Amino acid sequence: MTSEQRSVSVDTGSAAVAELVLLGPGRGNAMGPDFWRELPAAIAAIDAAADIRALIVRGAGEHFSNGLDLPALAPAIRRAADRLQEQFNLSPEAAEAFELPGADLSHEELTVRVLPRQADEFTCASCFLVKHRSQIAETRDGKYYCVDCV
Ligand SMILES: [Zn+2]
Repeated sequence: MTSEQRSVSVDTGSAAVAELVLLGPGRGNAMGPDFWRELPAAIAAIDAAADIRALIVRGAGEHFSNGLDLPALAPAIRRAADRLQEQFNLSPEAAEAFELPGADLSHEELTVRVLPRQADEFTCASCFLVKHRSQIAETRDGKYYCVDCV
């Protein structure tokens, strides 16, 4: 069975492997309102096929996904924030703490201090994360592999 929707497609044609594809490579396969509306039905269809043993989730095109489509979800986020404000009787000032997508953050500063790899650390040749030497699981051809990758 293949079902085509606006934001996801599901292919359960193979007996044991289903494929769920995030659609919309032109907009980074972003997860917007269509995605969140269609995903439960797609998962239910996969769940209903008793012979499926594995699910491949991928994005259409070259990349997986940009993540949430925040501009498209902004109205829903605003409604959820309003409901929380009502439910918990928050003051309007407290509600202002909810930053919405598209808000002007140009006056905000983010300070990140980047440290070089330390003497007791290594870079895993598989996941490329810098980790403490106690996480070395294997050394091959002079390259280190971490316990999570071996
Ligand atoms: Zn690793």
